[in-house]
Amino acid sequence: PIYLDNNATTPLDPRVLEAMLPYLTEHFGNAASRDHAFGWAAKEAVDYAREQIAALINSNPKEIIFTSGATESNNLAIKGVFEMYAAKGNHIITVTTEHKAVLDTCKHLEKLGGAITYLNVNKEGLIDLNELEAAITPKTILISVMYANNETGVIQPIREISAIAHKYGILFMTDATQAVGKIPVDVEADKIDLMAFSGHKLYGPKGVGALYVRRKNPSVKITAQMDGGGHERGMRSGTLNVPGIVGLGKACELCRLEMANDAERIGKLRDHLETELLQIEETQRNGYKEHCLPHVANISFKYVEGESLMMGLKDLAVSSGSACTSASMEPSYVLKALGLSDNLAYSSLRFSLSRFTTAEQIKYAISHVQEVVEKLRNMSPHWKM
Ligand code: PLP
Repeated sequence: PIYLDNNATTPLDPRVLEAMLPYLTEHFGNAASRDHAFGWAAKEAVDYAREQIAALINSNPKEIIFTSGATESNNLAIKGVFEMYAAKGNHIITVTTEHKAVLDTCKHLEKLGGAITYLNVNKEGLIDLNELEAAITPKTILISVMYANNETGVIQPIREISAIAHKYGILFMTDATQAVGKIPVDVEADKIDLMAFSGHKLYGPKGVGALYVRRKNPSVKITAQMDGGGHERGMRSGTLNVPGIVGLGKACELCRLEMANDAERIGKLRDHLETELLQIEETQRNGYKEHCLPHVANISFKYVEGESLMMGLKDLAVSSGSACTSASMEPSYVLKALGLSDNLAYSSLRFSLSRFTTAEQIKYAISHVQEVVEKLRNMSPHWKM
């Protein structure tokens, strides 16, 4: 099958694997062991990875906290701010289209006395900056808006959002899991206070991620969510995942060097895929095209049942517009927030390309989707024949 589901996870770049291997074998030391060369080698590798990561996002290496992934980074940032600023307030502003790692963290805080505002998005997937500003209260301690959406690829106006936050002395955090390594993300230019991202979305390994925590501004403080040996300057205890961290570092370095070329090439493939698929009658593209990740296309095929579409496309690994919950298939809440009906959300597909996607694969994907959509529509009682 052809893999076009890179927003779910990317394959490990072979160059990343190569960098990691020695740290799974001979360099097995604990980065916290100060008394011998095994520990020093591990610490050196971790320090180097911190520099590679910092270079990608224009931060200081000391501002990087290693975690197990973006879910943990989001939890650490949001819960950490909530606890640290309890005396100032309990109000957090976020958006209905955030990833569950943010939404469910906020839901958890609601049970602990948090007041959360969930901003809506317009039909293109963007928040309204006036609504954001109007939602701010004297009790607002954090604004958390994702950089780019995992389902639609829509990029929010991050610089404008952080400017609003800072005008009111509020911390700004962003879940940049889908953006880092794909488009330029600069924590200085964007004035980001806290930022979550993850290894396995940028050709690195799974189970490792980072939280950027601004140090220049002393008011950016969080409480630890994992207590123990005081690793990562006390913000995240636990023996460091040295091979994972080395992999994340190498993956970030490759993205820094290759992102511009990759984005241009992949963007052309995506545009071709999208143009061709939108030639099919009764299709629509979801999300703001002018402000979208270069490798993502989200397209709805009216009069096609979502489940049959996925079944028909067995040779194509893509994501459907539904999410499995314990009991049933629910239509995507992100697409519904853009105003899609349940049916249209179900009949949507997310294509996400990667540095390894080829023109031949896209050509095959186009003809395969064309064929399956036509076949299903011809079988559908709702389709005009
Ligand atoms: N945030 C966004 C926007 C994501 O797309 C994902 C991954 O699906 C996550 C957070 C969670 O990342 P991780 O798998 O590293 O915990």
